[in-house]
Amino acid sequence: MSERTLAIIKPDAVKKNAIGDIIACYEKAGLKPVAIRMMQFSKSTVEGFYAVHRARPFFDSLCAFMVSGPVVVLVLEGDNAIKKNRELMGATDPAKADAGTIRKAHGANIEFNAVHGSDSPETAKFESGYFFPGMDLIGS
Ligand code: ADP
Ligand code: MG
Repeated sequence: MSERTLAIIKPDAVKKNAIGDIIACYEKAGLKPVAIRMMQFSKSTVEGFYAVHRARPFFDSLCAFMVSGPVVVLVLEGDNAIKKNRELMGATDPAKADAGTIRKAHGANIEFNAVHGSDSPETAKFESGYFFPGMDLIGS
């Protein structure tokens, strides 16, 4: 079933010039970018995006990381895109990520882990609409 998911190439990966490699990983896996936006998050943008994590001990640190430099936000489309992208990303902690995953290749630690990916149809819808309002109206 074709579906859409929201991905973010985080500031650590942008700083190390891995944008091209990561987008190539998506494309090789059959995840087609249907929207791309490079941007610098503000504090309020990232706090709204990660609102589900507000109570977590790492929330402030995570928000500081995500505003530390530009990011690339993408909507990816393909068969089972949400699950496929989570597999392609690897475990949250790059040390535990399988070989061949994006986080294994580009992540440094459990916080600086190169990419974000939606984890369910509900979050994919919320997250895509957060950065690309009105996109639901275009196809799919
Ligand atoms: P994922 O990105 O794999 O879905 P979570 O949703 O649990 O992981 O966490 C969101 C982000 O918060 C992670 O990608 C990572 O950047 C950061 N994070 C998660 N757990 C920790 C932790 N224990 N310490 C610091 N940062 C963390
Ligand atoms: Mg998550």
